[in-house]
Amino acid sequence: MLAIIGRPNVGKSTLFNRLVGKKLALVDDRPGVTRDRREGEAELIGMKFRVMDTAGYEDDDPASLPGRMRAQTEAAVAGADAALFVFDARAGLNPLDEEIARWLRTSDTPIILVANKAEGKAGDAGINEAYALGLGDPIQLSAEHGEGMVELFDAMRPHL
Ligand code: GDP
Ligand code: MG
Repeated sequence: MLAIIGRPNVGKSTLFNRLVGKKLALVDDRPGVTRDRREGEAELIGMKFRVMDTAGYEDDDPASLPGRMRAQTEAAVAGADAALFVFDARAGLNPLDEEIARWLRTSDTPIILVANKAEGKAGDAGINEAYALGLGDPIQLSAEHGEGMVELFDAMRPHL
């Protein structure tokens, strides 16, 4: 199982849908942190694996976002073989990204750092910032345009 994590609006669901290739029903509708968790069977360059999207707090009170996001992210990461930590390379890092990175550095689950929205050169500054997160080299990706999928595949393959 591969988990897709990161703050809202970085493109997690866009990446999930690209990997799964279709829209999927909710698999867990319990209230709380797992409310909008989606899981599906993904295929990338002939490799099949299960993938989990995390979400479900966008329309809630922003004041309590970090706590709920942390609980959901930690649960997803704990149950995963590897996690794709997605950030928005165009927007650059924000304090929430840095907070998530701090939790992830203490995790035993392998983390693959993904610089999304990096089509063209618009993400270059954000990608350079991301080396400082201490989570390895970022994979440059455009989930929307399907760029960087071979590099993503190479990073994921050892963990699946
Ligand atoms: P999530 O909240 O992390 O699940 O993010 P979404 O997948 O819902 O995407 C948030 C917004 O970012 C949407 O408007 C997407 O169309 C946009 N987006 C996602 N991936 C990309 C990308 O690779 N490039 C650009 N430019 N926009 C993207
Ligand atoms: Mg989403």
